[in-house]
This record gives sequence, C-alpha cells and structure tokens, in this order.
Amino acid sequence: MAKDKRIRFPSGSYQAFCEGIRYKIDPENDIVEMTQKLNPRYSPESREEAVNLANKHGVEKIQKRARLFSKLLLLSILLFLFLMFFPANFSANSKNFFISAGRFLTIVSEIIFLYMFGYYRAMMNYCTDSYCEKCGKHFVFEEFQAPLVKEESKIDVYTKTLTQYWHCRNCGHEAIKIELQSIDHHHEKRQGNLKEDTCEECGEEHAIEEYRNIDVLNYVLKKKIRYFKCRNCGYHEIRLSKWFRIV
Ligand SMILES: [Zn+2]
Ligand SMILES: [Zn+2]
Repeated sequence: MAKDKRIRFPSGSYQAFCEGIRYKIDPENDIVEMTQKLNPRYSPESREEAVNLANKHGVEKIQKRARLFSKLLLLSILLFLFLMFFPANFSANSKNFFISAGRFLTIVSEIIFLYMFGYYRAMMNYCTDSYCEKCGKHFVFEEFQAPLVKEESKIDVYTKTLTQYWHCRNCGHEAIKIELQSIDHHHEKRQGNLKEDTCEECGEEHAIEEYRNIDVLNYVLKKKIRYFKCRNCGYHEIRLSKWFRIV
C-alpha cells in the first residue's frame, strides 16, 4: 500500500500548494477548494503551424482536406472489411495473394488517412477557435491566461469546473467560459474513532478528528479525500489516497 499524501494547514493558514494543485480550506463555511492550472489548449508550435498552413492554402482548403481525409479513412475501412469477408477459400491461390496484399495496403492507408485527418482536424480546430466573432478575423482570438480546473467540495455537493480565458488580440473582445464538468462522486461516512489522534502540531493527545465526510471520486479507482482537524490548536489536514490527481 502506498502512503497517503498529506496536505497540512498549520493553525491560521488556509491555503497550501502541492504538486501543482492549490488547496484552500474555508472551515467557517465548510468549503474545500482544489485548483490546478492546465496547459493552454494550443502550443505556440501548433499555432504557428496552423497560421503558416492557412497562409499557404487558406482556411477553406484546410477544412476541405479534413473532410476529404475523413472520407478516405471511412472508405479504406470499408474496403478492408470487404477484403476481410471476401470468400478467399473459394478462389485460386494467386487471388489469395492479392487479397492479402490488399488487406495490408488498406491497413497502411488507414493509418496514413487517420494521421492526415487528425492533423487537418487539429489545424481546423485552431482556425475555428482563433476566429473572433466580434471583429471577424482569424488567428486573433487566444487564451490570455492558463485554463483553470477547480473542484469544490461543499457539505452536500461536489463540483468540478473548467474555466477558460480567451480574448481577441485585435479588438479586445473578452470571453471567459466556465464549464461545469461531470464528476463521479459519492460520500463515505467519516470515521468516528481514529487510531492515530495525536496532533503533530501541538502534541495534544486525542485531539485530531475527521470533521467531514469522505469525498470519494471515481467509483472504480476510489480516490478518497479525507479531512481532519485538531480540536485543540486548529490545525487542519487533507489526506489524499495514493496517486491522486484532480484531473
Ligand atoms: Zn476581435
Ligand atoms: Zn493541534
């Protein structure tokens, strides 16, 4: 068993930072918050590549190519399935060779078309996302701050939100999108009697209690978040079961 990770809040402190995640407790309102900055959706390299490609061919052509490769991909999958179920046994040996070669070629072409489709689709997505509706320009709408994922645990509800910060370099139009994300969550009852209940901060025995019910995320992996505090000195602690990440 791997050890639990412990986030400590010495008396009077309500924020802690650990492995890229900011933990915030609000004992008065019984709210716990965990926030993490994500990478921007598009790397500078992919942005540059999309701009270069669009300068060369135009946005419409990129769109057309994405559609073309999706169709070619579908076609080669259908062709492969046809060759798979082709009654090989009834044909001559030389025919079998062509069928095997055909199957091989359709697999190769599937991989190539899938790659090309993925590439043009990504370029297309950037063209769409970087378009400013206000001033009608491409490649000006961009993230001005890293996206933020926030999980908030209240007594009766647990929410996860993703906030994205976009603005237009050209006209200044700003759009902050807050998306509620689905999360697999349930509560587990807190433990009444703890084996180790001596406070590491003040040394008081029988002072540590689990003061909130356990947040359990992901029904299969059972990632647990437990909440403790010291009755004597006000020390708080969040304990995360092994390998816990909020995203
Ligand atoms: Zn604009
Ligand atoms: Zn204490």
